[in-house]
Amino acid sequence: MQKGTIRVQTENIFPIIKKFLYSDHDIFVRELVSNAVDATQKLKTLSSLGEAKGDLGDLRIDVSIDKENKTLTISDRGVGMTEAEVDKYLNQVAFSGAEEFLNKYKGQNEANIIGHFGLGFYSSFMVSDRVTVVTQSYQDAPAVRWECDGSPEFTLEPAERAAGRGTDIILHLNEDSQEFLEADRIRHILERFCRFLPVPIWFEGKQI
Ligand code: ADP
Ligand code: MG
Repeated sequence: MQKGTIRVQTENIFPIIKKFLYSDHDIFVRELVSNAVDATQKLKTLSSLGEAKGDLGDLRIDVSIDKENKTLTISDRGVGMTEAEVDKYLNQVAFSGAEEFLNKYKGQNEANIIGHFGLGFYSSFMVSDRVTVVTQSYQDAPAVRWECDGSPEFTLEPAERAAGRGTDIILHLNEDSQEFLEADRIRHILERFCRFLPVPIWFEGKQI
């Protein structure tokens, strides 16, 4: 297992996110589904260029709730990430965005911020105590599990991904965000933000 510190000065992402986006927590769904769509579209492009080989299978995105474990999971069958990519995109890029975010929008009102800044992956920390990412690249590389509690400390270790290529984003919902374990709540958000996307989104046995 690799242990490390996310390379950014910001002590903790969570209070920053919470401070700026207090009124609209729902948008984390849009951000994570958008990433899943992007990953799937990238795979389609690579396949058409002959760089991703073989049958791509059923390219869909699945959103699921586990009430017992208090988790919400977004799964895709897109490009996935290698260990090096997780390190680059989640430990460096995504979190460095938090600082940029703070500096750029200091003193501005919330509506402006929401309108102008793509929150991206770390918007998951608005609603989560801990986020687990299990991912396997379309390239021939082992699956990895990355985990972070919103502090700059993360872990990265080898993992199994039964479904093969793709990514699971598993949100361990915090005390204040248990509403996102309600199916009606999630369906409503998906219907609001995630309709007419180029990849089918499935939730509770139905396509959105
Ligand atoms: P952006 O989408 O604007 O690039 P994000 O913070 O949303 O920024 O995501 C950071 C990066 O993490 C993405 O650019 C991508 O490389 C990687 N990433 C996030 N989610 C996924 C996913 N589901 N599959 C593959 N890569 C992902
Ligand atoms: Mg994104």
